[in-house]
Amino acid sequence: MKVASDNSKTVENTLLPQRSQFTVFHVLWLSFVFICAYLAGRKLAIYWGKAGWVVGALVGVACGFLLFHAFWLLATLYQRFRPLRPPCRQGRCRSNDYEIRVIAKEGSWESESKCKCGDMYVRRGNRFMLLRADGSTQPYMLRRRFHNWETDKLA
Ligand SMILES: [Zn+2]
Repeated sequence: MKVASDNSKTVENTLLPQRSQFTVFHVLWLSFVFICAYLAGRKLAIYWGKAGWVVGALVGVACGFLLFHAFWLLATLYQRFRPLRPPCRQGRCRSNDYEIRVIAKEGSWESESKCKCGDMYVRRGNRFMLLRADGSTQPYMLRRRFHNWETDKLA
């Protein structure tokens, strides 16, 4: 995701929460690796002594990578079946093709998405709307809970 802004405060504000989530995820992941390594090591040490701990550590790391891979796979599948953004009006741009810009608007944050065809869109709640040059919006797509994007009935 690209965040382009001429306001340094905007960039700082949008990046900070992501960075802290990243750290929490890593701490959890490392804990998982250590727990796996400890449990496997303790079990194997009964039979192999110190070598058991070494093998246990390797098993822990392997488990950690498997878990990481599983998460990555789930995230990829989720992205494919429930993308963050619908295809653009021309049908040429997909979720990851949009250029995202976070702007402050009336005291809250709003993300504007520009597709490669040059159209601007804005996300408001569960609606993805076309943003006209004069600043007005036109309903385009809607995403209900547990559903993928569908044509907004107001469009
Ligand atoms: Zn497009």
